[in-house]
Amino acid sequence: MYRKKAFTLIELLVVIAIIGLLLAIVAPALRLAKERSQFIFCKTNLKSYGLTMKLYLQENDDAYPVSYDSMFSVPTATVPLGCQWHDKRTSPANVPQHAGPLWPYMAKQEASLCPTFKSFAKAFGAEHVGPPENPGRCPNPIEPQYAYSQNHFLGGRVSYPSGTPYGVVKQHEVVDPGGVIEWVEETIWFVPPVNVNRWVLNDTCFFTRHPDDTVGLGDFIATYHGTSLARRNAGKGNAVFVDGHVELCDPYDSITLSSGKVISGGFRLAWPKKGKLSNTKLY
Ligand SMILES: [Zn+2]
Ligand SMILES: [Zn+2]
Repeated sequence: MYRKKAFTLIELLVVIAIIGLLLAIVAPALRLAKERSQFIFCKTNLKSYGLTMKLYLQENDDAYPVSYDSMFSVPTATVPLGCQWHDKRTSPANVPQHAGPLWPYMAKQEASLCPTFKSFAKAFGAEHVGPPENPGRCPNPIEPQYAYSQNHFLGGRVSYPSGTPYGVVKQHEVVDPGGVIEWVEETIWFVPPVNVNRWVLNDTCFFTRHPDDTVGLGDFIATYHGTSLARRNAGKGNAVFVDGHVELCDPYDSITLSSGKVISGGFRLAWPKKGKLSNTKLY
């Protein structure tokens, strides 16, 4: 007489093992798909930043706003400088009087946050330098508010702190619009080795420094796209360029001048007067 046979324990274990194997095969593909969609989200954000700037320039005689407070202007009495990017009290969405000149031109104000940045910020955000009274790891809660900084050489009417005219004021003065970044993702942790152009996000200003600049530390492009939490210095950062296109940028794409001085990838992409870059005199 035929009797329906139940699964044996061995058969059940084999089935479970096969399901586990299939999941292991699919998981990296799912992770990649997630990073891919986050990457596109970030590029769309930067595209909006480029359009916002275009609208602003059309109504302001082609003159860039000053980078430090173009999007937000937060009194340091409210939130210490250096903590503005991760404190929701800085966002003009919550506090309208903090809006900078560009803010009203933004069609989509939630475009300030890159999802990839958000996950890295939650993992490593506390490593950024805290307020002056709390140097070292930041003691404040990390609630990411924005991820993008404006190239300081666009609208950089004076350099900080010497008062030397720096960069260009108007967009049409940019020599190579397709080769100069306008808004860029900036790192939030120190990228080793800590020397020139290894500073972290602390306002909406991306200010890389020429090796001749005695102040030294300048800003560094983010390294969190196209990599993992475990290899967080291995990736790249997105930027929208003056001509409006968005591109992934390599922060390590440096060159060494005949003088032996090194110019970082960030500086090469930020300096708007390309013709003068090879000279010793930059301004
Ligand atoms: Zn991003
Ligand atoms: Zn902080």
